[in-house]
Amino acid sequence: MRDPDFIVIGSGPNGLVAANVLARRGYRVLVLEAHPRRPGGAVASEELTRPGFIHDVGAGFFSFGRSSPAFRELELEAAGLRWVNAHFESCHPALDGTYACIARDPHEQAAHFGSPADGAAFAALARFHAGVERNLLDALLRPFPALLPLVKLGVPALARLATLLLRSSGGLARSLFESEAARRVIPSLGLHVDVGPEDTLGAPLAYVLGLTATTGGYAVPVGGARALTNTLVTMLEQHGGHLMLGAEVTRVIVRGGRAEGVVLANGEQIRARLGVLADTSAPGLYLALLERKDVPRWVRRRMRRFELGFGTFKLDWALSAPVPWRVEAARRSAVVHAAESIDDLTRFAREVRSGRVPEQPYLVIGQHTLADPSRAPAGGHTLYAYSRVPPYLPGGWHKEAERFADRVEERIEALAPGFRQTILARHYFAPSELEAMDANLLGGDLGGGSNAWYHQLVFRPVFPYFRYRTPVRGLYLCSSYAHPGAGVHGMCGFNAAQIAARDAA
Ligand SMILES: Cc1cc2nc3c(=O)[nH]c(=O)nc-3n(C[C@H](O)[C@H](O)[C@H](O)COP(=O)(O)OP(=O)(O)OC[C@H]3O[C@@H](n4cnc5c(N)ncnc54)[C@H](O)[C@@H]3O)c2cc1C
Repeated sequence: MRDPDFIVIGSGPNGLVAANVLARRGYRVLVLEAHPRRPGGAVASEELTRPGFIHDVGAGFFSFGRSSPAFRELELEAAGLRWVNAHFESCHPALDGTYACIARDPHEQAAHFGSPADGAAFAALARFHAGVERNLLDALLRPFPALLPLVKLGVPALARLATLLLRSSGGLARSLFESEAARRVIPSLGLHVDVGPEDTLGAPLAYVLGLTATTGGYAVPVGGARALTNTLVTMLEQHGGHLMLGAEVTRVIVRGGRAEGVVLANGEQIRARLGVLADTSAPGLYLALLERKDVPRWVRRRMRRFELGFGTFKLDWALSAPVPWRVEAARRSAVVHAAESIDDLTRFAREVRSGRVPEQPYLVIGQHTLADPSRAPAGGHTLYAYSRVPPYLPGGWHKEAERFADRVEERIEALAPGFRQTILARHYFAPSELEAMDANLLGGDLGGGSNAWYHQLVFRPVFPYFRYRTPVRGLYLCSSYAHPGAGVHGMCGFNAAQIAARDAA
């Protein structure tokens, strides 16, 4: 495509959603993706272990799949995407045999949450959440400040949310539940990003991840995460947009303070008539893609000190049988979290923050084939896991990686004796390998930078550029480094595209 109206740099979910929004408005859109073989960024699937075993390389569970305003508006399901769920959404077993599960069914919520009193408390919270979810997600995910959804929520719901959420995730869990099994659930979810149990104002993020699982659940697309990406690409092409793979952008061309196009790694220049949207990291955009003269000095300084989240160590296995969890409910759960208690999670977060490789890694474990058997040959299963780790180690990750992968297996084996005997093959990505696959995953950070409260809302990625515009006219940041941040909801791209279209009109 020659002289498109808009160029989108990067084809992660945010880039593809932005491209779709613009293409549907009649603009000519070109998406440039650095990866040589596939689009999707951290939303992709590959046969990493053995032929026929389809593994999600990054995002594996889509709590916003059914509820994201962007996905609803783009009507992904009408375009053929199918979401499926396992019986339970998440199970939180411990070595002592106690457990709690997040379920979508109200009876299962009450029956499997640590103790009868905790089950009743969780079911009541899920009922409250179901009543406010749509307005709450609009308030949290649309461009900040989203006042109308706040008004629609109403004073009683806002007061309840404030009472619940203006605290740490551990504080929220202790205020609601009596058993350790129930208490470890919500803080476990905060550690999907870099929010530890005792972190100031960590509750909102952990609450959203936990409670959206009671409505849409930790859904997975049939065929792998790549099905979501492929749907977005197909829809884009149907609206006249174009995707180019192996097209790494090395510079944004700026003339007279306005973005006019990009330069590719092979030297080719491509002009954009109306604007450029960057589904890139914020430091990558401001420090590498833009020339010094185009970025205020204080922004460059902030980007050099940009606070990343934790690193990620991601593993995948091909298995000959399902994981033999000691806790039966875990055998029916899409996600299993390995963490004994709030104290265990606090210890883990402290170790990662201090730069140590955790001895007892907290784990997010995914059992995709329970919901979608098409991802493995008959009788076989896939297993997915990640832990949070220091992004960089003094001697590099290569020396530590194999040992850490063994430690992860040990932790699963302790909860599921016999697990190791089911392993046919293993694959892992250390943080440096995730970054090599997708330049946005700096140090293996899956969160688009830290998700601490002081990196949210007006501070994301840096005040006053929290509404996608940048100091360069016609240039927008549309990745998870922008509000509302990490997760596959496409809302960073959706919001940025609307603002770019408004500016271009
Ligand atoms: C291991 C892992 C597990 C995760 N699990 C979940 C989960 O279960 N659920 C969930 O909701 N989220 C999960 N996430 C987070 C989620 O994947 C991200 O929040 C989401 O993918 C961010 O989308 P994005 O479009 O902003 O960026 P990305 O998905 O990172 O895509 C960015 C794209 O831009 C391209 N790019 C960057 N720079 C350039 C350049 N200069 N030129 C050309 N192309 C460029 C990259 O190659 C990449 O394709 C996970 C992430 C990881 C890594």
